[in-house]
Amino acid sequence: MYDKFNRKINYLRISVTDRCNLRCTYCMPEEGIQLLQHADIISLENIAEVVKVSVGLGIDKIRITGGEPLVRKGIIDLVKMIAVIPGVKDFGLSTNGILLKEYAHELKKAGLHRVNVSLDTLDPERYRKITRLGDVRKVLEGISEAKKVGLTPVKINCVIKQSSSEPDAVEVAEYCKKNNLQIRYIHQMELSNGQFSVVEGGEGGDCKICNRLRLTANGYIKPCLFNNLEYNIREFGIEGAILKALKHKPKCGSVNTNGTFYNIGG
Ligand code: SAM
Ligand code: SF4
Repeated sequence: MYDKFNRKINYLRISVTDRCNLRCTYCMPEEGIQLLQHADIISLENIAEVVKVSVGLGIDKIRITGGEPLVRKGIIDLVKMIAVIPGVKDFGLSTNGILLKEYAHELKKAGLHRVNVSLDTLDPERYRKITRLGDVRKVLEGISEAKKVGLTPVKINCVIKQSSSEPDAVEVAEYCKKNNLQIRYIHQMELSNGQFSVVEGGEGGDCKICNRLRLTANGYIKPCLFNNLEYNIREFGIEGAILKALKHKPKCGSVNTNGTFYNIGG
């Protein structure tokens, strides 16, 4: 499907939960967040239905994200449901990697193609500071397990403050080179201030070539991460919400004051 600026829209990013087992300083407050009500979270079957309908409209690339997708109950079942939908050509999942060692084999078996893992530093103390809760060794074990079971190419998302020559980012880049991983640098953003930027080494944030729609854990289709627009699948139906998002997808994002990374999925 094409939007009114003739961009081909073929990529759906799905946030399956707003919950997370970490509290990264740039993403969530220390005390956590006001969680979505259980009744507002759409079911796994509903998510799979959204994928089916969107594939029928021209989506062929799917990414599961969150919050932390591996804390959503039934995540393996969801992966299974999506993997068998004909027309899904590229099927990835973004994770902080904490539970990846445990889940990698099952995810692969369920039909997931590949994973992106967030890693901002290799230093255990700084990792703990940034994530407030995490043990970087678990992430590294998760990454090697993902490679071992073939969830490849494994890509690393590294959040940077100013530039990719910051010491932590340089260390992560060296680790990636050594371990045959692709790195993408994400500038730390503040969506509510209208502050966003392109992902170095990736395609995100470049409005001219944006091919994305998003589904939130509470059932809204969003045409743009950097914009407040959203269409409820319960109100408009799945196809109706997707087509509204397509029709109103802005030429370029500006500011998002009613959502952020953990509930839209980055
Ligand atoms: N929990 C998973 C993870 O951390 O990979 C998936 C969801 S997370 C919201 C997706 C991506 O958004 C991560 O790579 C994370 O680093 C990034 N992110 C979160 N807050 C951000 C911010 N304020 N600016 C830039 N990137 C951010
Ligand atoms: Fe959780 Fe990912 Fe946000 Fe960190 S960036 S708090 S891991 S959702």
